[in-house]
Amino acid sequence: MPIETDVAILGGGPGGYTAALRAAQAGCTVVIVERDKLGGTCLHRGCIPSKTFLRSAEVLATIRQAGEYGIGFAGDVEWGVDWAAVVSRKDKIVSQLHRALESMMKQNRIQVLHGEGCIAGPSIFSPRSGTVNVILPDGEMESIVPRHVIIATGSRPRRLAGLPYDGERLVTSDEALAWSTRPASVVIVGGGVIGVEWASMLSDFGTDVTIVEAAERLLPGEDADVSAAIAKSLTARGVRILCAARLDTSSCQVSEQGVSVEVEWQDQHIKLSAERMMVSIGRQGNIEGIGLENTEIKTNNGMIIVNPATLQTGEDHIYAIGDVIGGVQLAHAAMHEAEVAVRHMTGSSPDRVADRDIPRCIYSRPEAAAIGWTEEAAKTAGKQVKTVKMPMRASGKALVHGETEGFVKVVADAQSGDLLGVHLVGPHATELIAETSLAKLLDAVPWELGRTIHPHPTLSELIQETMQAAAQSVRHI
Ligand SMILES: Cc1cc2nc3c(=O)[nH]c(=O)nc-3n(C[C@H](O)[C@H](O)[C@H](O)COP(=O)(O)OP(=O)(O)OC[C@H]3O[C@@H](n4cnc5c(N)ncnc54)[C@H](O)[C@@H]3O)c2cc1C
Repeated sequence: MPIETDVAILGGGPGGYTAALRAAQAGCTVVIVERDKLGGTCLHRGCIPSKTFLRSAEVLATIRQAGEYGIGFAGDVEWGVDWAAVVSRKDKIVSQLHRALESMMKQNRIQVLHGEGCIAGPSIFSPRSGTVNVILPDGEMESIVPRHVIIATGSRPRRLAGLPYDGERLVTSDEALAWSTRPASVVIVGGGVIGVEWASMLSDFGTDVTIVEAAERLLPGEDADVSAAIAKSLTARGVRILCAARLDTSSCQVSEQGVSVEVEWQDQHIKLSAERMMVSIGRQGNIEGIGLENTEIKTNNGMIIVNPATLQTGEDHIYAIGDVIGGVQLAHAAMHEAEVAVRHMTGSSPDRVADRDIPRCIYSRPEAAAIGWTEEAAKTAGKQVKTVKMPMRASGKALVHGETEGFVKVVADAQSGDLLGVHLVGPHATELIAETSLAKLLDAVPWELGRTIHPHPTLSELIQETMQAAAQSVRHI
């Protein structure tokens, strides 16, 4: 007998499990189909494992700087990196969160079906498509007949064609997370968020790191000041950064000794050799094998096309959310989209936040975070902008922490005084950005943020001061 339900969800990552919880809380019956483990990329191959490694690297960096804080090691104290213990801590945190997620599904009476889901032909609820067939691990098939379907099948690493990936020496970030030893040297292809986080983490662990980036600068989607600050910090720690570089994939060789590849950079032909190479050049949507051919759903460049306000696909009763629709491929974006889709399907106003106003975070050392327009994008869009930038070293708390790299930069509309963008580099930037996300939701202007009392001494004071300066500067234009 097929399972009749209000909502069937394909994929149990942050998009899928959030949609399941919200739909169940709204009184719907829900079946979530997951072919691997609940938690998706974020929990098993993304946010949580990578941040756990970054935290270990940060602790190591702090120990190395202990002398600056008046802390010395006397006698025969021995310390060093136990990579197996670093990995085991990561595994423990991931399984703890995985167990918590499974019990949350039970508490909310969400049925979890483990298997590969595929949208099939017509159902009693839709003359066109909508039955979801699930191939279970034992090869048997289960059918679901849902009123609504949410596709949340996520994404996987985009591969550079022509490279001889071997899963150990030449890998994507998925396999790098499973490395059983830390490489002595690595070439990272791609200087976006994932590449920069890995470069920061591995260099803190003592790995010799080279980044090869095709664009003119690291983090090409971020404000130029953010790129420059992160590049400066990594370079100072010995990371070699080759921007505007072209990788000759046909020259790439993998052997017992490691990986070698040739790169064209600044009119030179350079041969790079390292123990391992990681490719992080973006993500592609998981759109294959999910039955799109049985539907009116359209795709563009490997991503599902949706109505941006409601997240409905070409078929009104089928929604798509998260990485599989492209745009901002972040876990909190997927979770927000889940809420939007469920709100729409249950008759509430979806209220989707614009992609630009979703906070973007980079968990390198120093951290970086941003929301809204970059200075360049605002100018290119024809806006008259006023920017104010204050250095992190002006913050008493940053001095106390011993972490003074970075800045707060505010981009304001010179005519209306509106807040266009905020760019942070420095300690806890990824926490500090939340305040500006609230400001964007409330449509607050720099004056209001500058007027808000911030506790002293905190890093957040620097946001208040920069907002005050931005409010002054737009007032006096
Ligand atoms: C190294 C790395 C670090 C990251 N760090 C961060 C970070 O710090 N912060 C942040 O916000 N984002 C981060 N991300 C991005 C984040 O992981 C993704 O944006 C997020 O996981 C997307 O959620 P999703 O639900 O759309 O898809 P996913 O998390 O990819 O989940 C999709 C799920 O669908 C399942 N699935 C696919 N096809 C089927 C099918 N046919 N049937 C059944 N199940 C199926 C998959 O097994 C998977 O579990 C990182 C990503 C990577 C790779």
